[in-house]
Amino acid sequence: MMHWSLRRQSSWVQLAGHQGNFQLSKGGEVLKLYSEGEAKCLDSLMRDPLRPFVPQYHGLVTRGDHCYIRLEDLLSGLRRPLIMDCKMGVRTYQEEELVKASTKPNLRSDMYQKMVKVDPLAPSEEEHKRKGVTKWRYLQWRDTTTSTSTLGFRIEGLMMEDGSVQRDFRRIRTLAQVTEALLYFTRSHLQTLEAYHSRLLALGDALKNSTFFRKHEVIGSSLLFVHDHSKASVWMIDFGKTTPLPDSMELQHNIPWVEGSREDGYLIGLTSLTASLSQAINK
Ligand code: ATP
Ligand code: MG
Ligand code: MG
Repeated sequence: MMHWSLRRQSSWVQLAGHQGNFQLSKGGEVLKLYSEGEAKCLDSLMRDPLRPFVPQYHGLVTRGDHCYIRLEDLLSGLRRPLIMDCKMGVRTYQEEELVKASTKPNLRSDMYQKMVKVDPLAPSEEEHKRKGVTKWRYLQWRDTTTSTSTLGFRIEGLMMEDGSVQRDFRRIRTLAQVTEALLYFTRSHLQTLEAYHSRLLALGDALKNSTFFRKHEVIGSSLLFVHDHSKASVWMIDFGKTTPLPDSMELQHNIPWVEGSREDGYLIGLTSLTASLSQAINK
């Protein structure tokens, strides 16, 4: 028993988020720090056509001073798994965040510094002079430095079978580069690529029939790709920034975002990923 739990612990890995947000649990579960919005999403997802594509949600549990969401451990049962986290959508901030930011015209020197570090040419002459940018400007700029705003997703990070974690794929910009990354991640293993491809097609069908999807702005959510020597699957995770729409509103998810539309471009990302997998299969 001891041996089994140790092995499972060593296979657990967290590719994104704050380390303190997760705790290991017994019995094939992981615990994620509670947020009301995410718990509500998971609750409705358990009654939606998307259920087979989401880690099973087992309610809440308290550990010490904190409340946690109990989730199926998607790595459970896999041996030396390889993992890829793709953050979906054409933007990674909520409209609400942008509206809040627009009421704060103060200049942020920390955000200016981050901007210059990535691209010294990104700030305008005025911004350079003041050594500051508004948060509103920073949020919108950041997604243009990755494939988020063009391909509708970005690779947040991946973990190979030796446990090494790589995050430099975030700066990828073109579909051809994504295809190279997928070939690297799968070691060009055809069955794995095909399994991922058909899983994404099935997800596309489920999304079409999903009330949850029509009625939510899905921001900062990821597709988690997981495979080992014998199995490969993809899961929707992270609903911390997914918000329900007002009653009369529905999203299409496959058109560009304009301010106020709340469109997230989730399906633009899914189409890019599916196309890239097809390219990888045919290489
Ligand atoms: P962020 O918002 O910064 O992306 P977060 O705190 O909301 O982070 P998640 O994105 O939900 O956290 O998860 C972070 C990482 O933890 C994922 O990239 C994945 O590696 C791992 N993870 C999350 N949920 C599961 C799960 N159910 N099973 C296995 N691994 C998981
Ligand atoms: Mg995440
Ligand atoms: Mg999150």
